[in-house]
Amino acid sequence: MMAGVIRRLDETVVNRIAAGEVIQRPANAIKEMIENCLDAKSTSIHVTVKDGGLKLIQIQDNGTGIRKEDMEIVCERFTTSKLQKFEDLTAISTYGFRGEALASVSHVAHVTITTKTADGKCAYRASYCDGKLKAPPKPCAGNQGTQITVEDLFYNVSTRRKALKSASEEYAKIVEIISRYAIHNSGKSFAVKKHGETVADVRTLPNASTVDNIRAIFGNAVCRELIEVGCEDSNLAFNVKGYVSNANYSVKKCIFLLFINHRLVESSALKKAIEAVYAAYLPKNTHPFLYLSLEIAPHNIDVNVHPTKHEVHFLHEDSIVESVQKHIESKLLGSNSSRTYFTQTLLPGPAISSDDVLKPASSSAAAGASDRVYAHQMVRTDFRAQKLDAFLQPANKTQTEPSELAVSECGSSRQPEQCDMDMQELNDADLLAGISEDLDIEDFMGDVKETGDSENSSLVNPPPRKRHRIGSDVEMKDDEGAGDTTDASVPKRRIIKLTSIKELRSEISEQAHKGLQEMLQNHSYVGCVNPQWALVQHHTKLYLLNTTKLSQELFYQILIYDFGNFGVLRLSTPAPLYDLAMLALESPESGWTEDDGPQEGLAQYIVEFLKKKSEMLLDYFSMEIDEEGNLAGLPLLLDNYIPALEGLPMFILRLATEVNWDDEKECFESFSRECSMFYSIRKQYILEDPALLEQQTEELGSSGTSWKWIIEHVVFKAFRTLLAPPKHFTEDGSILQIANLPDLYKVFERC
Ligand code: ADP
Ligand code: MG
Repeated sequence: MMAGVIRRLDETVVNRIAAGEVIQRPANAIKEMIENCLDAKSTSIHVTVKDGGLKLIQIQDNGTGIRKEDMEIVCERFTTSKLQKFEDLTAISTYGFRGEALASVSHVAHVTITTKTADGKCAYRASYCDGKLKAPPKPCAGNQGTQITVEDLFYNVSTRRKALKSASEEYAKIVEIISRYAIHNSGKSFAVKKHGETVADVRTLPNASTVDNIRAIFGNAVCRELIEVGCEDSNLAFNVKGYVSNANYSVKKCIFLLFINHRLVESSALKKAIEAVYAAYLPKNTHPFLYLSLEIAPHNIDVNVHPTKHEVHFLHEDSIVESVQKHIESKLLGSNSSRTYFTQTLLPGPAISSDDVLKPASSSAAAGASDRVYAHQMVRTDFRAQKLDAFLQPANKTQTEPSELAVSECGSSRQPEQCDMDMQELNDADLLAGISEDLDIEDFMGDVKETGDSENSSLVNPPPRKRHRIGSDVEMKDDEGAGDTTDASVPKRRIIKLTSIKELRSEISEQAHKGLQEMLQNHSYVGCVNPQWALVQHHTKLYLLNTTKLSQELFYQILIYDFGNFGVLRLSTPAPLYDLAMLALESPESGWTEDDGPQEGLAQYIVEFLKKKSEMLLDYFSMEIDEEGNLAGLPLLLDNYIPALEGLPMFILRLATEVNWDDEKECFESFSRECSMFYSIRKQYILEDPALLEQQTEELGSSGTSWKWIIEHVVFKAFRTLLAPPKHFTEDGSILQIANLPDLYKVFERC
């Protein structure tokens, strides 16, 4: 067998192999060229890229330029303006010193340089191939600085070309490198864009700060949570400066911008040490954002590493790493002392969330943060998950309502599909409210006359039944037996064709705020501060809801939507309207003065007036007023819900004074407004009377306060399905966003 002949490799082949090692992908070439721009004291560096850098890379700077006489050798190997003796290496302050980069590029691509120095008369342009000038430089027009164009990268190295990822991945890598240099070099402006595009994917301004640049590139979300770090150690001869995210911020993949002596490098030892600090503060499998600029005495670091090796090691590495680690830990612990929370009027939905989302300036800068809500950020956000107390019946008792008036629900005409459930729930409410109740749903079927013309249609009220108080046995007439109950579970709904009601309905739906509605539908109830204010959670945000205002709107909407289809809450003893009106007039709330005339006369007038309206009130609103002028029944707006009867006298008075009875639409609207005000959950009825509160607490025994249970399991439950929240809730303080939970958790964790 013949021995292989050893031949000296052709020089261009050697250079090409060497070049392939230095320049492995477009981003490497760009990094080298950016470093050249910075070495040339440029303050503006603009990069344009086509096909991920494989077709074209163009870098324009405003630096010193290259002298015409140097243009001949600038692309040859080992030509540099930056280093003369080996000893200079220890004090090198420039990125480049090997004179290898441009040479390498010119061996694997077509390079054209256009450059002008400050004192040059004009610019010169020259093209290079395999390190050599193709033709003498030609004078041309141009500003001071250098433009280097690299075309058809790896045109002669097909294996390298094939090994590369897609153009978009290469471009992402390029944007990443330029972003990092831009952050490290605040005060200089950088831009990178795709060829043919007018808008840059990353752009920083010459007067922007480091934080401005982090914001421009990584977004506001991280920027808000940055801590400035900085320390030095003369023994170890290093200093470190930078910005790191606090414990409120985390991303799926660690973002670590590390510069050692202004070179973009990697140090797995340092990374590991810092990540260990964060592991104690961040949710599992999430990571921080870190930008550190470490300066180490040049004699302690070997900069003469291969250009493609980013991983660095340095003298006293362990001690320096530990020192940086300790410093960051102390900063992290201290960062929590002065947090500010903003209470803002709520604007949920896209408007609010998009603002909070980290907006990466480019795909590569998208470090994984998004507006997605991770499980660890949630607290029982699935409202379908039942809470135990929904099944707990508050303690049995004889009477909750402190009023003389006892009420019983006697019929529901709400949607048939709810009937089974409603009957079950009725048990709770009965016990809760201490109300005697026939558990069958009123059979309206036989009583409803459907005429097709709703203006003439009439809902004949179910025949009065004997109502029973708890304490006496619940009697059931034989004819109200089981069969009756079964039939009753499919009550018929009257169709309302009144234009006025249709208009009021569409006004409600036009006013509905989608974001709020979505929040209400999917909220998790946290608890109530008092009868007026409740806390709910939606995604990671916490909201304070004005139960009074929301419940008032809820009852108004029910009155409009279920118009003519209400069940009846029947008073066990009919209440004389006269007495109710007198009670109201005697209370300061009525604003009665002697000028208004004697109270008795007014009360009598109110009774007569309402008696005249009784037919309509019964038909449309299931409000029963008998011939003697007694109030016998109120509309059943929500199953298991009875309005606080302390509000009844004022309701009666205001029906006479505040409702516009002359205009159909205004009448329905103003009646519904008054009625919903009476039905709404109001603080004063529960809390302002200490005796009352005491009484309630006592009667309810250990199971707690009934209003809390009703608010959560009746009222808020109805908010999910029945309420179309109007837009003005976002502005009038009815709904306030008080916190973003991840922020809060961090505070709680340290308490
Ligand atoms: P090095 O940076 O190691 O010196 P390079 O091959 O990167 O080697 O560059 C060779 C030389 O070309 C540099 O020393 C510098 O004099 C010149 N040069 C390259 N790019 C620029 C530029 N953008 N502005 C001015 N001079 C440049
Ligand atoms: Mg260089």
